[in-house]
Amino acid sequence: MKTTVHILMGSNMGDRESYLVAALDRLAAVEGLEIIATSAVYSSEAQDMEGENPAFLNQAVKADYDFTAGELLHSLEKIEIDLGRTGKGQREPRTIDLDILLFGEEQITGERLTVPHPELLNRPFALIPLVQIDPRLVHPSTGRRLVEYLTLKARQQVTVYRDHVARSI
Ligand code: AMP
Repeated sequence: MKTTVHILMGSNMGDRESYLVAALDRLAAVEGLEIIATSAVYSSEAQDMEGENPAFLNQAVKADYDFTAGELLHSLEKIEIDLGRTGKGQREPRTIDLDILLFGEEQITGERLTVPHPELLNRPFALIPLVQIDPRLVHPSTGRRLVEYLTLKARQQVTVYRDHVARSI
């Protein structure tokens, strides 16, 4: 059975935009994953990280997926390693970070995986691209529309970096 999933890509190291493009290429090659739409690329200052950190670029991806959330996480981790990601779980610059924001309406609380992503509602850089792709999305745990969490302050923290309209592939 297919599940509609939303993934957030982020980079704040090296040629950040190239890492997003490379990650999207690799996502497109994941077995059982069919990309439906991508958001614009957004820029925001590093949040929750220590010391000076380069700004992040983020982009959300919507896809249909044939397998489980655990299998998707495994594929995302392989792509991160392929693209030179180090410092897993640490708050330091990263070439590429791939997070599962939503996995259909599933709510998962496991050792390796929490879905919806536990920080989604606290992170304007995740909410904004997600809502751009799907303005009507509802948070599976709270039952409220995601757009309701977008405060003025949240909107001010994130700027458009590359403004292609969310495109259907
Ligand atoms: P990070 O350093 O941001 O890549 O995340 C570190 C760990 O978070 C990963 O090894 C995952 O096991 C875990 N994790 C928990 N929930 C999620 C999620 N929704 N998407 C991606 N990683 C997750």
